[in-house]
Amino acid sequence: MAGISCRLALRRGGGHTVKRAFKYRFYPTPDQATQLKQTFGCVRKVYNLALEMRDRAWKEERRRIRYSDTSAMLTEWKRQDDLAYLSQVSSVPLQQTLRHLSTAFDRFFAKVSGHPRFKSRKATRQAAEYTRSAFRWRDGALTLAKMTTPLDIRWSRPLSTDSQPTTVTVSLDAAGRWFVSILVEDRPQRPREVATAVGVDFGIRSLVTLSTGEKVSHPGGGRRQAGRLAKAQRELARKKAGSKNQTKARRRVAAIHARIAHRRRDVLHKLSTRIVQENQLVVIEDLPVRNLMGNRSLARSIAHAAWAELRRMLEYKCAWYGRTMVVVDRFFPSSRMCSTCARVCESLPLGVREWTCGGCGTRHDRDHNAAKNLLAVGQTVSACGADVRPQRKLSGRAVGDEAGKPIARAVGVPAPVGRGGCQTANSWKAMVFSTG
Ligand SMILES: [Zn+2]
Repeated sequence: MAGISCRLALRRGGGHTVKRAFKYRFYPTPDQATQLKQTFGCVRKVYNLALEMRDRAWKEERRRIRYSDTSAMLTEWKRQDDLAYLSQVSSVPLQQTLRHLSTAFDRFFAKVSGHPRFKSRKATRQAAEYTRSAFRWRDGALTLAKMTTPLDIRWSRPLSTDSQPTTVTVSLDAAGRWFVSILVEDRPQRPREVATAVGVDFGIRSLVTLSTGEKVSHPGGGRRQAGRLAKAQRELARKKAGSKNQTKARRRVAAIHARIAHRRRDVLHKLSTRIVQENQLVVIEDLPVRNLMGNRSLARSIAHAAWAELRRMLEYKCAWYGRTMVVVDRFFPSSRMCSTCARVCESLPLGVREWTCGGCGTRHDRDHNAAKNLLAVGQTVSACGADVRPQRKLSGRAVGDEAGKPIARAVGVPAPVGRGGCQTANSWKAMVFSTG
């Protein structure tokens, strides 16, 4: 038993204001559409030029270029005859893309993510980001820099007129739909603290199984949608490259993707809100790295996308509501360990949905047992939270990610867990060091 080690990440909800993003669909006038597409083009150009400069400086002189350097270059580029068109669009999205590139390089040098890549004209999503100085928000109307009329936004959920947007992102997806995402500073109403805690197990059969025994199935007709998607993709593959029919088929594929995503998001929002409102502590298992999933089935990759999105929602909603979230490393044998006596069985093939513990004879539902184990680890870690070391920052997502709030990770967890008793600071550290 002592040989089991796992890593944990703990995140405590807290803080006063949080940033929330509200995303809406909008319908640009032909002029606005032209202007926005031109802006996307300029954003892409500036990003790619700056990326090239950074790469060259690094390769030839081992010199790191900073945001301020690229910003100065941008001024130079605008003076060049062949790049003079960059002056025709708002300069803010161009500055913002340089900031994003800078962040991408920081993350690359910190070994958090891969090397930044060039932006392609054929990218599935194009976007431009406007900060406070580049848009006007008045009486519930949003007008972007260099535009005379406000955007025609479909307010699918209310955005209070007193909220102060800090950033506005305009995007165009592969299905040809326009979206505006409005980031506001918000002071969320904290619900009262509750004493309940829950373990959440992600699965293929059921989207999640909770430690209470409740199972939630995958969002609407996952398999049927997967079938439709596969058919549309086969049709797309048969079309002649560069033909009108190929463009049409590509749009169809994009539209099915969009429909799946929309339905999924709706279900996940409701589920995550409920879980976070009802519990003070939410414990989940870390997800397998995406590229390990590369060759799996379509149904599996759709499931994976749902877990990733649910996890992200749980994370930022925990921050909004002042809840605690614990992420347990996936090498923790949550499925194979008996939640009654903590005995770990040698192997438990994926197909086995129910099993009987050889130690105490308890009959387990595979997923329910896993959720109960996650809950037990989470409760231990939450109680020992002070000993968990600070660790990397969360991914650079703006939504609900309180700036500078680190999540913590510890290596090594005492086992068996959850049967009372909290490790002392010293034994935690011993665990940390002994497992390297
Ligand atoms: Zn047992």
